[in-house]
Amino acid sequence: MSHRPHRLYLSSDALVANWRALARLSGAAACGAAVKADGYGLGAREAVPRLLDAGCRDLFVATWAEARAIADLIAGRDATIAVLHGLREADLPLPDLPGVRPVLSTAAQVARWRMVAPGQVCDVMVDTGMNRLGVSEADVAGGLLDGLAIDTVMSHLACADEPGHALNEVQRARFAALAGRTGARRMSLANSAGIALGAGYHFDVTRPGLALYGGVPVAALASAICPVATIAAEVLQCRTVRAGETVGYNATWRAEADLPVAIVNLGYADGYRRALSSRGCAFAGDALLPVIGRVSMDLVALDARAATVREGDWVRFDDDLVHVAAASGVSQYELLTGLGDRFERVWS
Ligand SMILES: *Cc1c(COP(=O)(O)O)cnc(C)c1O
Repeated sequence: MSHRPHRLYLSSDALVANWRALARLSGAAACGAAVKADGYGLGAREAVPRLLDAGCRDLFVATWAEARAIADLIAGRDATIAVLHGLREADLPLPDLPGVRPVLSTAAQVARWRMVAPGQVCDVMVDTGMNRLGVSEADVAGGLLDGLAIDTVMSHLACADEPGHALNEVQRARFAALAGRTGARRMSLANSAGIALGAGYHFDVTRPGLALYGGVPVAALASAICPVATIAAEVLQCRTVRAGETVGYNATWRAEADLPVAIVNLGYADGYRRALSSRGCAFAGDALLPVIGRVSMDLVALDARAATVREGDWVRFDDDLVHVAAASGVSQYELLTGLGDRFERVWS
């Protein structure tokens, strides 16, 4: 029987442990989960039931399509899904998805909600300095939200992964000043990195994404978070490359001595970024196998001097997102969300 030549091993234990750690660090605030972009590329339909079982009740997606894809999973679970991009004209007629509500972020969206769902509960995004999505503080002061049934008023931090950045405290103070002025039942400010900024940033609900999936946006979270996703791929060919020969496109890597090279089924079309050319690494057991030469679309070459590797063997790739981001210059967010759909995703 044929099987796919590369896999993404996904650890339920690690996902749940990360959520629990973030919930603990969120103190008295409820800890939600951003599951947008298909659970940051790992698979929202697999991640959500595990997060619900762990006690998570507040889920965040970007679009109504993403909400629809997981809406059945919250039935009977007393959980809600907030759609961060709000309610566009094109989202109408309002999808009949129990437990799903928009995060309104413009005056037009607020007006649309009053028309199509009068009196129904929504969330609202207020911009406090990122200048991305959200109604303004002046809109709030001017009565834009008056009479809306708001569950959670939220804002988003621009620089939470730079703990010393002055904008953090500016945004926190502006957000705190909204308390009691929107009629909202709850307030929510912190993403993963925001949780690590301390109790003053927690409010009532936190919204981690990256750290749930093994990303470490700030050093303060390093000891609390473990990798969730590990790439493994099959060796398609082993060869000896002679001293002076080159490996891969554009002949960027040259052998100084004869060496064994393993050609592995993984490439940039799978999200194994070309920026990892001659910079990434894989492991056979404990032996480290450096990537040599250019990463191709579907293939990568490894220096196999450190281990005995044979055709048909499997190697696993470095799953420390901090390392891989540093080696590639690609953000941890892009590394996760770029993981392709050719992998066999294997949850343990
Ligand atoms: C993506 C997102 C989050 C999660 O952010 P992380 O940095 O991945 O923890 C939280 N809130 C909003 C509004 C987002 O768009």
